[in-house]
Amino acid sequence: MEINLTNLSSTIPAEPQQVKVLVLGSGPAGLSAALYAARAELNPVVLTGMVLGGQVSLTYTVENYPGFPEGVGGQELVKLFQKQAERFGARIEYDTVTQVDLSKRPFRVTTYNGIYLADSLIVATGASSRHLEVPGEVELTGRGVSYCATCDGWFFKDKDVVVVGGGDSAIEEGLFLTRYAKSITIVHRRSELRAGAVLQKHATEHPKIRFIWNSAISAIVGDEAVKAVRLKNLVTKEESELPVDGVFIFIGHDPNTEIFKGQLNMDTRGYISVDASMGTNVPGVFVAGEAGDPIFRQVVTSAGMGAAAGMQAVRFLGKQEG
Ligand code: NAP
Repeated sequence: MEINLTNLSSTIPAEPQQVKVLVLGSGPAGLSAALYAARAELNPVVLTGMVLGGQVSLTYTVENYPGFPEGVGGQELVKLFQKQAERFGARIEYDTVTQVDLSKRPFRVTTYNGIYLADSLIVATGASSRHLEVPGEVELTGRGVSYCATCDGWFFKDKDVVVVGGGDSAIEEGLFLTRYAKSITIVHRRSELRAGAVLQKHATEHPKIRFIWNSAISAIVGDEAVKAVRLKNLVTKEESELPVDGVFIFIGHDPNTEIFKGQLNMDTRGYISVDASMGTNVPGVFVAGEAGDPIFRQVVTSAGMGAAAGMQAVRFLGKQEG
């Protein structure tokens, strides 16, 4: 997103801030990178982005992060990551990057609130929910259309909702919605789920959940609030309308890497190309988490990449200083 910085000039500190390690993003990848850089006494600065903790902070329970056999709340896990990084000297800034210049070191990073000159940079900007791009979706977002069951589930007490998607997120969030909603209809474009076996078992056995297979939503209908979805069976081509109060969309994510285009190498989907040492095509710029991971995208793998990127930034700066 391009921001007109002239409108913000009064809030921008006169002097750019010099930092050794600047971490962009505060999810498991960013906060783990900050922990490792902080323990090397490099006083990293973490720019949170729009949401402290990123996607995991919107997750009700994380059940597959090692060390928490009973699961851990997404927000609780983020707080623990933050506390641990801060304990060793990381500084968390509630700020979002608008522009980067990676053409020379120190790298120049412009944010809503100022400018940073960073000797090394760790890109941990994560990913954002993909949209269905059907009529009614934009107009009814916040009026029944949602991308976060943990945030909005409560508003659908005793209501009928649709969940779109067949991956882990759709099934996990669908199960979460059973706490509130009267019924959950999972609409999936194929006849089998992509989600893991355990989640599938829980969902198929749940009395409040039913599935509509081989179907796509072609429109979301409503004015002040969602009233129905239009469905198309992709096999029979039959069209129908299903009355519902809410539509939760979990059809995957796209990496938040737009501002690096033309400076960091990336694939056609926007995932930054990362080598085995978390490095990019620009020496001193490292990537961790979903911004550079189209495959695993788990809290634990993102945290692992963050730790590795933090260690690499420390090594890089050590070499620069001889
Ligand atoms: P995902 O695994 O990419 O699944 C996206 C789902 O949405 C797929 O079922 C896909 O259908 C469907 N889809 C994609 N585009 C669509 C469209 N335009 N219209 C309708 N349906 C569409 O994404 P995710 O579920 O968000 O998971 C992302 C990553 O996070 C995965 O690696 C997942 O394992 C991980 N995750 C893990 C957990 C956990 O372990 N507890 C929880 C959440 C997420 P197809 O199947 O036909 O492609």
